[in-house]
Amino acid sequence: MYKKVGKIVLIVGALCLVFILAIGFIKDRKNTDEVTAQGNAVETEKDNKEQKNDSKEEDKGVKELRLSEENLLLKIGDKYNVKVEGLLADGSLIDLTDDSKLLSHSDNEEKISIKDGEIVILDSAKADDEATITYVYENISATINVKVEAAEEPKKEEPKEQPKEEPKEEPKEENNESEQNNNSNSNDDTVMIDEDGKQVVTNPNDIHVLVNKQRNLPSDYVPEDLIKPDIKFSFTHEDPKRYMREEAAHALERLVAQAKEEGIEIVGVSGYRSYKRQETIFNYNVNKRGYEAANKISAKPGQSEHQTGLAIDVSCAGVNYKLQERLGELKEGKWLAENAHKFGFIIRYQLGKEEITGYQYEPWHIRYLGEDLAKDVYEKGLTYEEYFKQYMLKE
Ligand SMILES: [Zn+2]
Repeated sequence: MYKKVGKIVLIVGALCLVFILAIGFIKDRKNTDEVTAQGNAVETEKDNKEQKNDSKEEDKGVKELRLSEENLLLKIGDKYNVKVEGLLADGSLIDLTDDSKLLSHSDNEEKISIKDGEIVILDSAKADDEATITYVYENISATINVKVEAAEEPKKEEPKEQPKEEPKEEPKEENNESEQNNNSNSNDDTVMIDEDGKQVVTNPNDIHVLVNKQRNLPSDYVPEDLIKPDIKFSFTHEDPKRYMREEAAHALERLVAQAKEEGIEIVGVSGYRSYKRQETIFNYNVNKRGYEAANKISAKPGQSEHQTGLAIDVSCAGVNYKLQERLGELKEGKWLAENAHKFGFIIRYQLGKEEITGYQYEPWHIRYLGEDLAKDVYEKGLTYEEYFKQYMLKE
């Protein structure tokens, strides 16, 4: 009898213990799941204090947060891992993506949420829903704008709208050029007209290929010899935009090394870009700024030199590794403009040549043409469009 009672007491005791442990567990989970904006601030403060007390090694001295994207366009069901880096006082970057002190939250949790560090577009989201995701590390924060892109069919109005605007738009910019193009078509075997009346280059693999707002690359063109130049980039994660075609990549390595020798640090920002990626960027800009503005600052898919694997955007610490016109006034930008041709590159979109190139001044965008051609284009002081017409077409 007493034995039986003893057993029952034991079992009840054990059950209680399990129950208490389970409640503790659920509470803990709740705490980590329910990280609100306020919670972030409190936890950040706590972390700061703990860090100061703990050890000096822990203090990374992060001055600024760098996110791999500023704007993201994602579809329902998409997940996206944003790379978060910390800029240190000495100008170097450390990867904070998996740092336990990095906190993040969305201001539109029900539709665009963060799970295990990934941005997730929930099924409840609709096209054009937006959220601001805030990343907080210690007392520093950075944000990224996320917009939901229409899935497949439902909202394909934009591509339909574009052709409508195009005829109005482009003749203005191209008047002189398209005339000349028409005249020269007969002796220009580097381009053909496809069934939509679009000019498509026939020599996408040629390092001299001319790609611009008139001359498209085939949508399926992917260079076969893409490699990663061994240079410093403005980000540390793996990314297709690290790649360039082999010859251009090695030339870039030589350029960056020579600059370094002269006390100039040039950093890679964005090299190869696929047709698909360009499409996403262009559509995003159309959504955000309208067709006209988007067409000035970004290329339409197929019209970007980045798809050739022969172009790269570069920057420097003086403009915070961003792509800003001010780069042209800094010693790094000036060095590039004066020396890039020695390594086979030209500044592709020159100041004051917007009417000819179709692009704003981009002191950061360099294009590989090989040393001989780059030198000649540089010395003649022409844009590649002008040079091509004057010197590269058969008589
Ligand atoms: Zn570029």
